[in-house]
Amino acid sequence: MSFFRAIEPEFSRFVMGNAPVKQLATGFDWTEGPVWFGDANCLLFSDIPNNRIMRWTPGAGISVYREPSNFANGHTRDREGRLVSCEHGLRRVTRTELDGTITVLADSFDGKSLNSPNDVVVKSDGSIWFTDPHYGIMTNYEGYKSEQELPCHVYRINPSNGNIEAVATDFACPNGLAFSPDESKLYVADTGAMFDAEAERHIRVFDVDANGGLTGGDVFHVINPGASDGFRLDTEGNIWSSAADGVHCISPDGRLLGKILVPELVSNVCFGGRAKHQLFITATTSLYSVVLNRQGIQRP
Ligand code: MG
Repeated sequence: MSFFRAIEPEFSRFVMGNAPVKQLATGFDWTEGPVWFGDANCLLFSDIPNNRIMRWTPGAGISVYREPSNFANGHTRDREGRLVSCEHGLRRVTRTELDGTITVLADSFDGKSLNSPNDVVVKSDGSIWFTDPHYGIMTNYEGYKSEQELPCHVYRINPSNGNIEAVATDFACPNGLAFSPDESKLYVADTGAMFDAEAERHIRVFDVDANGGLTGGDVFHVINPGASDGFRLDTEGNIWSSAADGVHCISPDGRLLGKILVPELVSNVCFGGRAKHQLFITATTSLYSVVLNRQGIQRP
């Protein structure tokens, strides 16, 4: 069988037909938040229900990076290479300093607790953008069941003073997010309210102004089947997004170009590896990867 399904002819140039989708590790409950550390030659990812962050090292395999993790979900790295994490359990966004200490970057807005920060991205100006849906406080599975105090917004942490600003307030449940290669656009997925059969299942696109404000916000692409829990872009602006049947590749003009078929429900992806050409895929109980003929935007 092939691991790939081309929808548009150009997709066949993005993949190598003989490159396998490999299961690197399994035995987890819900993997999420992959982030590549090329300088340490390892990948970190969350195993959310088991309250831990795992580390996968080529040749050495799996070890525990942090346990408990406060039910950490999405991760990224800032401009200095530090780990930035969303934590359901303490309803906050944190930064792990190079000496291992943890700094809280955001845990409230308008005097109220955040819901359960889900995914995070850092812009080249140092601003930190994250989504705050309620998934992590709706049940005790991926955090602690708690009262929701705030609507589900997209936030930006100002790099100069650390202030938190709600930059998009019309989402049902914002989830994955990423910038275009030139950072002129921000893509944000809406995966809809938990327990809502008619939930939103699309990615929206915003224009980013010089002051960090957003305009636009039209629906860019509707994911089918499934929803876009998380995604990353390659250097040409194609979006590699989770979906129910694997990873979907979506062109900068919003067309579905093709699919990477994955045997478990995918949550998120990130690029890494020797040439930033290896797509790591977190999918339910496992971590997978596949080498592509594309390179990811890698910051830093
Ligand atoms: Mg997510």
